[in-house]
Amino acid sequence: MTIQTVGIIGAGTMGNGIAQACAVVGINVVMVDVSDAAVQKGIATVAASLDRLIKKEKISAADKDAALAHIQGSTRYEDLQKADLVIEAATENHALKLKILQQVDALVPPQVIIASNTSSISITQLAASTSRAERFIGMHFFNPVPMMALVEIIRGLQTSDETHERVKQLAERLGKTPITVKNAPGFVVNRILVPMINEAFFVLAEGLATPEDIDAGMKLGCNHPIGPLALADMVGLDVCLAVMEVYLKEFGDSKYRACPLLKEYVAAGRLGRKSGRGVYAY
Ligand code: NAD
Repeated sequence: MTIQTVGIIGAGTMGNGIAQACAVVGINVVMVDVSDAAVQKGIATVAASLDRLIKKEKISAADKDAALAHIQGSTRYEDLQKADLVIEAATENHALKLKILQQVDALVPPQVIIASNTSSISITQLAASTSRAERFIGMHFFNPVPMMALVEIIRGLQTSDETHERVKQLAERLGKTPITVKNAPGFVVNRILVPMINEAFFVLAEGLATPEDIDAGMKLGCNHPIGPLALADMVGLDVCLAVMEVYLKEFGDSKYRACPLLKEYVAAGRLGRKSGRGVYAY
């Protein structure tokens, strides 16, 4: 059965990005958030993003109208009942996600697949909180969703082959390239990326090179589009630190200890772009 309607929980950064990715390929979207203001903000973000694509002559004004017509905003979870698949993209809070998933699980028919876009919470554990662990899966999109080609598909311990196959096909319909990953802290991409950023802080702390030279080294020597320290400023130093702390706790391996300099910057409120100063000043 082809997926015709996708339910999305959360109209924030990721939720509205996923809504846009679905709508532009003609998939109906029901996007639910807690307030009308949040829903409207999400839809306005999609409209603004489509306007930028019109400016770049990638889509026409008619394409924009058609895409927006595919998105229904709502504050009622009951509206998710028409979805063939529901993607949870609400705030990253464990207790909140468990509550939302139980609510959705009780509401949507048993054959409906539920996916979570969580960055850090165990898919196996979220799956076990529902009555359909075999039809529960991780669908980890990257920010900004309309631009980024990757979707990590995370199989929980009990995710069925059929669920995996259907979600993989959906990712491909969205024009994304899926990779399949087993459930583990950080999945694949963040598991490699964040320790690399942490190592860049050790290199900086040891005074081996200036921040500019560390970033230039990784850009020019490894073909990365952005250096690890500039990337840390974009992601947020507090987020990088929190992720390292999760790895250290979950794996119990000292190779995941956060660099003291990273901790020091976070303690000083130097969180990156969002606070005006991280490794660099903005
Ligand atoms: P965000 O803060 O931009 O949006 C979260 C939205 O969820 C908000 O609009 C909020 O009102 C809504 N929400 C809260 N409680 C809700 C409820 N009970 N029902 C419906 N909606 C509710 O956050 P985000 O950056 O979009 O992150 C969403 C998820 O995606 C998180 O799990 C996060 O870890 C993950 N993620 C984020 C990124 C990123 O770069 N931002 C990348 C990959 C994955």
